[in-house]
Amino acid sequence: MSRQEKPIITMETIKAIEDMSYFTHALIFDDLLIVAQKETNCFVLKTTKGLIIIDAIWPCEEAFNAIISAIKEVGWKPEEIKKLVLTHGHVDHTGCGKWIVNAFHAKTYLSKRDDIFWEKEPAKKNRPETWKDYNIDVYVKDGDIITLGDKTIYVYETPGHTPGGLSFIFNVTENNNIYQAALWGGSNPPRSLPDIITYMKSLDYFMEQAENKNVEIALSNHTGVDNGMERIAYSQKRMSYMPNIYLIGQSGFRKYCQVFRNLCYEKLESI
Ligand SMILES: [Zn+2]
Repeated sequence: MSRQEKPIITMETIKAIEDMSYFTHALIFDDLLIVAQKETNCFVLKTTKGLIIIDAIWPCEEAFNAIISAIKEVGWKPEEIKKLVLTHGHVDHTGCGKWIVNAFHAKTYLSKRDDIFWEKEPAKKNRPETWKDYNIDVYVKDGDIITLGDKTIYVYETPGHTPGGLSFIFNVTENNNIYQAALWGGSNPPRSLPDIITYMKSLDYFMEQAENKNVEIALSNHTGVDNGMERIAYSQKRMSYMPNIYLIGQSGFRKYCQVFRNLCYEKLESI
């Protein structure tokens, strides 16, 4: 049977990023919650000293409410939100951070380059409601770590999708077993040849780091890239004897990264 080697990204996919009519979530590891709308998702990582939100969906109250109710639904406490960590400065990731910061005084993290990019080059130039609307407290760079309680997020600079895009590696647990998870920050490859080359170099670099850290879990912040909605639905109904669909092993992670290479090849053909 031939299987898909890359996601199909259409104008409909791009439009659906703003559809706030439907949200879903699942506890995919004992300490990792995914919250999604149709095309974009964020993660909530539980630590011994509070919660870290990674990315924030879209700048609207509906997204904020969905994240908060998902946190409550899995039995965690929204008032324990301590940090908001962003992969990059696009509006579908900086998202509802303003509400998170206002409600919980979460400390915010992004690269300096993408903080400037977020402010100076908004993705929706004619729509002020999507412009930069909160401050970044900590500028992080390659090799930095973000710690809270028992968790450490390793930070990697992976430019290409945006000039200062970041990717992360951190551990998660299931039934007291610890696994390494990697989140590739920028899904869709850029359009210009130099940017695509930068993107592919970043991907190679991140794959090497993931290999060194024995990453066995591929996380995506866009559900369209990894059949995220279906994986969330599976995780919600998963029974105790069933495998964790996010745990794909080191070779699985390499194959997952190949999806982004294939997207790059597609872009190169269109130049
Ligand atoms: Zn983006």
